[in-house]
Amino acid sequence: MIIKKSRAEIERMARAGAVVARAHEALMEALRPGMTTLDLDAIAERVITREGAVPSFKGYRGFPATLCTSRNHEIVHGIPSARVVLEEGDVISIDCGAVVDGFHGDSATTLIVGGDEATTPAVRQLVRETRNALWRGLEQVQHGNRLGDVGAAIEAVATANGYGVVREYVGHGIGRALHEDPSVPNYGAAGRGMRMTRGWVVAVEPMFNLGTERTRALDDGWTVVTADGSLSAHWEHTVAITPDGPWVLTARADEPAYPVAEAVPAW
Ligand code: MG
Ligand code: MG
Repeated sequence: MIIKKSRAEIERMARAGAVVARAHEALMEALRPGMTTLDLDAIAERVITREGAVPSFKGYRGFPATLCTSRNHEIVHGIPSARVVLEEGDVISIDCGAVVDGFHGDSATTLIVGGDEATTPAVRQLVRETRNALWRGLEQVQHGNRLGDVGAAIEAVATANGYGVVREYVGHGIGRALHEDPSVPNYGAAGRGMRMTRGWVVAVEPMFNLGTERTRALDDGWTVVTADGSLSAHWEHTVAITPDGPWVLTARADEPAYPVAEAVPAW
């Protein structure tokens, strides 16, 4: 069942989204070689609690941390650890959620430790194109469009670059629960699938692999890795369908909250 949100509820969700954005900004600023993924977790938790919010993931089905930190061939759901020391050139997916006033925000980035120059052009491109695919998907989250339009826009970026699109883990509705209906796949056919309407709020989250789409879960019960050991990237935003187009609730200061040029907020 898809739970549509009122304008007031979407505005509350924007507050949760803003907290998640602040956490990511702090993480982008702080990330250095030599840090552990547990250090990143502490930074995010500090920002979230300072803002009076609550981490979404901590305790979710028993997940032990504020962030999911997934390094190199890890795709999603990696557990922060004092034993995982980040090295120059590592690719780290950082997924963060926060609850404000009963509503969740959910967003992920993939960063290169030591900066873009610390890795190869092929890896830089994977990270950049996965982010690009996120925004191509967000643009399609419009009243009257179909879920297949979102998936097709994302998949087209992967196909053009020869990347594997992870199929077992997908985007999702979000609201009072971290994961609500519908599922938002990162693949599909334009013009197919459910029609989206105003009041929908979804998390769009492409996961692209340099190798095949196949995944494997580690025996820690959480971490998902590429089956072939290839590198993976993951970007995510929470987006609401307003009367004026998609509103990216988790947009950071360097990003547009309204990705479609003609969609100007009238609220
Ligand atoms: Mg997430
Ligand atoms: Mg998500």
